[in-house]
Amino acid sequence: MKLISIIVPAYNEEENISPIYEKLVQELTAVPYRYEILFVNDGSRDGTLKEILKLAEQQNNVKYISFTRNFGKEAAILAGLKRVKGDAAILMDSDMQHPPTLISELLLGFEEGFHQVVAKRTRTGDPKVRTFLSSLYYKVINSITDVDLADGEGDFRLMSRKAIDSLLLLSENNRFSKGLFSWIGLSKKTICYENVLREGGDSKWSFGSLLNYGIDGIISFNTKPLRICFYTGFIVLFLSLVYIAYTLYGISQRGIIAPGYFTTITAILVLGGIQLISLGVIGEYIGRIYNETKRRPNFLVDISNVDEYDES
Ligand code: UDP
Ligand code: MG
Repeated sequence: MKLISIIVPAYNEEENISPIYEKLVQELTAVPYRYEILFVNDGSRDGTLKEILKLAEQQNNVKYISFTRNFGKEAAILAGLKRVKGDAAILMDSDMQHPPTLISELLLGFEEGFHQVVAKRTRTGDPKVRTFLSSLYYKVINSITDVDLADGEGDFRLMSRKAIDSLLLLSENNRFSKGLFSWIGLSKKTICYENVLREGGDSKWSFGSLLNYGIDGIISFNTKPLRICFYTGFIVLFLSLVYIAYTLYGISQRGIIAPGYFTTITAILVLGGIQLISLGVIGEYIGRIYNETKRRPNFLVDISNVDEYDES
């Protein structure tokens, strides 16, 4: 019988661990697979780890990895994928926003031979501004990066062993999972589900962290922002040449009449702004190079009851 691994990252989710476990078991006993549930405690400061340890003591298909501190969800997903042994893995949040009832449908896609089965959510119940900004963001990111990202497709997905192994070949530190999932290619099936609001605790996303995540997505996948700076420079140079020619013509006809304060300050501010943005873009790339060259691990494990997955 095939083994299905469920990976559940958890950061300050003490009230959600037990309910999600119950729901998962309910779904997983109804399908003809063996299963393991791997909780990744991402440095929680509440009783999350205690809850997980309690479960692991009672149930031997509950596995866990606990980080030394909070390393972020991307790191938790990576740790999970490195250590699961299943023929397929399902990634899901611990806050019930990824309905466990969809597991059977995800497995159906797996049976049909798809390497990735993605659960795509609608945006019902999300704040209007966030919905609007997200759809705008996906338009922008899809037009400037090479990978194809879809609004509403997140980490909730099933990945075959081949997809997991392919993803693990990507060793970068700066991990923008959504993009990496798309980058590896392989056959994909999408199923849709109605958006669910969080059951307990709070979302870990603030507006600032979402904005940073957005920039990560754009910068992680290619160097087009650098190209955009380059083009902007050209356009500004061209416009200024036209303006210089026009001004010179004016001077030759009427002599110098403009006091020049407005034009000077405009030129300084516009050019200064463009230069600062360009520097920022270059800086982002250099920062990433700096981070990658340090070759630090993505996470450190404090305690765990699973070893690193070994293909042999
Ligand atoms: N999470 C994590 N580490 C973090 C932040 C979040 O492991 O630093 C987990 C969190 O416990 C949850 C999932 O990632 O299981 C999604 O987080 P959240 O619900 O805050 O995100 P949202 O659903 O709002 O996108
Ligand atoms: Mg959530």
